Amino acid sequence: MLALFNLGGGEIILILALLLLMLLVPAVVIAVVLLIVRATRKTSYGPPTTASPPSQSSRSENLVMIKCQSCGKLNGQDAKFCQECGRKL
Ligand SMILES: [Zn+2]
Repeated sequence: MLALFNLGGGEIILILALLLLMLLVPAVVIAVVLLIVRATRKTSYGPPTTASPPSQSSRSENLVMIKCQSCGKLNGQDAKFCQECGRKL
């Protein structure tokens, strides 16, 4: 009786341990996946924030600056002649 009882207790402990593992392992896996996804999202969000300033500067250049057709020099919007080669804009 005592031996059977001890065996039963050991089996219950093993089942509980297996249940805990079955609950803990997916939780740990989900946590790791979430961390990886957050890390990849942070890295993916980085380039757009660094890429937005150049686009804004290019927009301002397109609005304010006039590109010389002969030498490619960017001149002010009010400039009538190129500051680099003197060509009429
Ligand atoms: Zn020019």
